Amino acid sequence: MTTAFITHRECMLHDMGAHHPECPERLAAINDRLIAAGLDMYLSFYDAPKATVDQLSRAHPRDYVENVIQSAPQTGIVHLDPDTAMSPGTLAAALRAAGSGILATDLVMSGKAESSFCAVRPPGHHAERAKAMGFCFFNNVAVAAHHALAEHKLERVSIIDFDVHHGNGTEDIFANDMRVQMVSTFQHPFYPYSGADNPAPNMVNVPVKSGTRGDGFREVVTNTWLPALREFKPQLILISAGFDAHYEDDMGSLGLLEADYAWVTEQLKVVAAETANKRIVSILEGGYTLSSLARSVAAHIKVLADL
Ligand SMILES: [Zn+2]
Repeated sequence: MTTAFITHRECMLHDMGAHHPECPERLAAINDRLIAAGLDMYLSFYDAPKATVDQLSRAHPRDYVENVIQSAPQTGIVHLDPDTAMSPGTLAAALRAAGSGILATDLVMSGKAESSFCAVRPPGHHAERAKAMGFCFFNNVAVAAHHALAEHKLERVSIIDFDVHHGNGTEDIFANDMRVQMVSTFQHPFYPYSGADNPAPNMVNVPVKSGTRGDGFREVVTNTWLPALREFKPQLILISAGFDAHYEDDMGSLGLLEADYAWVTEQLKVVAAETANKRIVSILEGGYTLSSLARSVAAHIKVLADL
């Protein structure tokens, strides 16, 4: 069984200006590393389709989706939030990023792939129901989860989020929707300053202190994540795969290494084999130091694809 690698060249055209950390070079670094590590030849490559307004409107109010579409500039840059800006290439990139999770879900549900990784940008987990923020416009992982529930008639989907930042958008969209479980760790207190007070029984958010290394992270996964996942028994595991908790990443102050990303991926594969017919869909979120981002994605994919 193969691992699908889903991306699109239009995801490189979203450009929030010189020196913005969420830059097109992130995807180039990942592609280069896959080739250098010899992983590319073992993956099935797919172009991300554009998500439709209907697909996006399962996670966001339709007027929010239409407002983002109408905000897209022909030239220059339009800010929707101090950190979150649209350039002429942004709308296509954002639609492809959300569409990647839809295709990824279809591939694992149909058995054409065992797992899928989406190398896309803009990221999504800070996008709330009706609010673009934190470099995010549409909540890619939430759109994929809703697609799995609506189109594939799943009853239980888990979203794992190991980005250094709390996935406030995913929490906003799914708090108290008992079909979806959110399981996360994040540096706290830190942007977006949410997540420490779980607002609903389907939220398993575990804040960790600045300076936490792999041993502390693995303890949370072993003691909190894995029991919660085994109790919920997801039929599909979605990962908000941010790699900005890496020791070398300038954005946060946690200390994960490639080996920690490989280890957590292995643990999630074991759960997926027990409850989800091995189905894992992983979608890129953060990760801003190009070298550690690319190495961490390669370590994650290597485990996903059993290489
Ligand atoms: Zn992040």
